[in-house]
Amino acid sequence: MTRTTLTDGTPVTPDHREIDPKTGMQKGYVVLSDEERAKGFQEPVRQSYRHLTCGGVTTMSRPLAETYARDPFFYSGTFCAICGTHFPVGDHGQFVWDGTDQKVGTRRPPMSEQKQAMGGVRVKAEILAKEIQMIVAADRWKGRDLSAAPPEKWHRLRPETQQFWIDEAARILAALTAHEAKEADNG
Ligand SMILES: [Zn+2]
Repeated sequence: MTRTTLTDGTPVTPDHREIDPKTGMQKGYVVLSDEERAKGFQEPVRQSYRHLTCGGVTTMSRPLAETYARDPFFYSGTFCAICGTHFPVGDHGQFVWDGTDQKVGTRRPPMSEQKQAMGGVRVKAEILAKEIQMIVAADRWKGRDLSAAPPEKWHRLRPETQQFWIDEAARILAALTAHEAKEADNG
C-alpha cells in the first residue's frame, strides 16, 4: 500500500514536478493516498486559500484539500492561480485559508490557548473600560453638569453599563491592535 499518489489516485511519477509552461502548474501534484486520508483529519477540509501578496483566491481539488486537513505540514508551497506560480506556505508563508487569518500549512492553536488569548483581551478591555469611564465621568464633572452624578466606582455600575464600557474598550483595543500591526508592517 502506497502512502502517496497523484491527485487522480495514480502512482507518483518522477517527472510530476515539471511545470506546464501554459498554466505554470506542475504536471501532477502529490497527495496522501485515499487510505491515508481516511484515517482522519487534524484540521477542517478547506478548498480555497487567499494569496496575501495579490489578494487572489485559489480553489483546489478535494484530494489536495483533504491532504492539508490530514497533515497540515505536508506541503512546503502552493499555487496561486492569479499569479500563475508557486509560493511558500507555513507560518512565514504567503497564504491564508479564505475567510480566516490562519496561514495555510499551519495548525490552529488548541482551544485552551485561544481561550487564554481571549481572557487576556477581556482583562485589558476591562482596565481600559474603567479608564474610559473615569475620563467620561471627569469630563462631565468639569462641565459642571450638576444633574450628573459624580464619578462612580466601577463596581457600583449596573452590569449592563459595565458591559457597555467593556464592549467600547474592546472595540478601541481591536482598533489599536490593528493600528500597531500596520505600524509593525511598515517599520
Ligand atoms: Zn497571487
